[in-house]
Amino acid sequence: MTLPRQKTKIVCTLGPASSDEETIRRMIDAGMSVARLNFSHGTVEEHARQIEAVRRAADAENRVIGILIDLPGPKIRLGLLPVEPLEIEQGAEVVLTTDPCPADPTMIPVDYDPLPSLVGPGSLLYINDGLVRLRVLEAGGKEIRAEVIVGGSLVSRKGLNVADSVLPVDAVTPRDLELIEAGLALGVHTFTISFIERAEDIRIAKAHAASLGHEITVIAKIERKAAVDHIDELLAAADGVMVARGDLGVQIPIEQVPVVQKRIIHAANKVGLPVITATQMLESMTESLLPTRAEVTDVANAILDGTDAVMLSAETASGSYPVESVAMMSRIALEIEGERRTLGCGHLLEDRIRESYGRESIAVEDVVSLNVIDAVRALGPRFILTPTRTGRTPRRISRFRPERWILAFTRDPAVQRFLTFTYGCCPFLMETERKDWHDLIFETVRSLGLASSGDLVILTEGVAPGPVGTTNSLRIVTIE
Ligand code: ATP
Ligand code: MG
Ligand code: MG
Repeated sequence: MTLPRQKTKIVCTLGPASSDEETIRRMIDAGMSVARLNFSHGTVEEHARQIEAVRRAADAENRVIGILIDLPGPKIRLGLLPVEPLEIEQGAEVVLTTDPCPADPTMIPVDYDPLPSLVGPGSLLYINDGLVRLRVLEAGGKEIRAEVIVGGSLVSRKGLNVADSVLPVDAVTPRDLELIEAGLALGVHTFTISFIERAEDIRIAKAHAASLGHEITVIAKIERKAAVDHIDELLAAADGVMVARGDLGVQIPIEQVPVVQKRIIHAANKVGLPVITATQMLESMTESLLPTRAEVTDVANAILDGTDAVMLSAETASGSYPVESVAMMSRIALEIEGERRTLGCGHLLEDRIRESYGRESIAVEDVVSLNVIDAVRALGPRFILTPTRTGRTPRRISRFRPERWILAFTRDPAVQRFLTFTYGCCPFLMETERKDWHDLIFETVRSLGLASSGDLVILTEGVAPGPVGTTNSLRIVTIE
């Protein structure tokens, strides 16, 4: 087998442009690591077919591909437009209605019944991450009359934000709980929670899955100010985070997005949880074969910031060049990953942990993971091999973005699946009762053609079969 070209993980949203197995195979070949299904769009049946297609394509390409279900949360969206795209021009007057099937085809349906009672003359409505803007003239009953401040083209199910309004705080809605159940029935165990503000919502989602007999991993989408303010609390309860820049750029002043992105990435790196940077990364590639220079630089900078994964939204879901977008991301990642040390940024966390040597705050796993990094730099081994029960050891090592691949070996399929989100980590499932676990790992890397006799590798070890979380040493081994 071969490893992906780039160590940065690439999350691809699937949609009409990327539903067939052949396209997904080509996306995997181009560097896709995780398929994201946005349950705000499409039907569960469509998503079920996409999931099947991903699994077949991953098998055919001999890759482990993660699957992520994005739960809609309490987002207000346009309903199904009778004609789309619907062009609306600056200065025009439009009418929004909470009636899902308005008799008048020029009316714009919205899926949130209380909306007319929550807004009044002067309220600003932002559609599609703020690309289209309306000012309310009059609201009441089922309708809102508004003036178009910034025009554009509308399609069904685009999101709608009310500027400066207090929106519902429950990030996990009854509909989301149903969709968790639907996702579990499709064998998916990783979900993102949208518009989260408090850790309690993560516990609600996990408890619901547990009541159905499943353990899930939860990624918190950071897209509200309250989530930014409570990032440490959310990181303590979540399994990962996403910097969801689309809604974030509407909910906080847009110029604060870069600072928030960097802060969240650093916070996630510190605790060793995967972080995804999302929205408009190569947006112009929805229609064009080439991205803008600014987009290329944005992807590269997110990687330098320390993101584990970069995400494609409309580029792969509904754009004209899904495969080319993934290939472009892979090329950008490959180029910048090699410059990490010279450009410096990745050392912040490492320096901070080294500064805590000798103090109580230092943890054994910090020392072990830094020793791995030192050994990698000193010896340039072929791989870092990490047996793991929870995924924690490879994630802790990955924080420092080593220049060698981390091959993680686990008996737990859920741990394997979730490590697809972690930078520079390739997870393997070891379905075996054999006790000579380490020999088996060496045999595996040899038989897959990843390493050969005489290759130097670094292996982390714990007390087997001791308690979880006891990785406490490393071995430098020459493969026989
Ligand atoms: P979110 O705020 O949760 O990101 P979004 O509406 O911005 O929601 P994305 O997942 O970012 O959606 O995808 C970008 C666009 O791609 C969507 O607005 C939609 O037009 C299209 N899209 C995504 N998934 C699908 C799908 N399953 N079916 C149809 N169109 C889709
Ligand atoms: Mg989006
Ligand atoms: Mg969003």
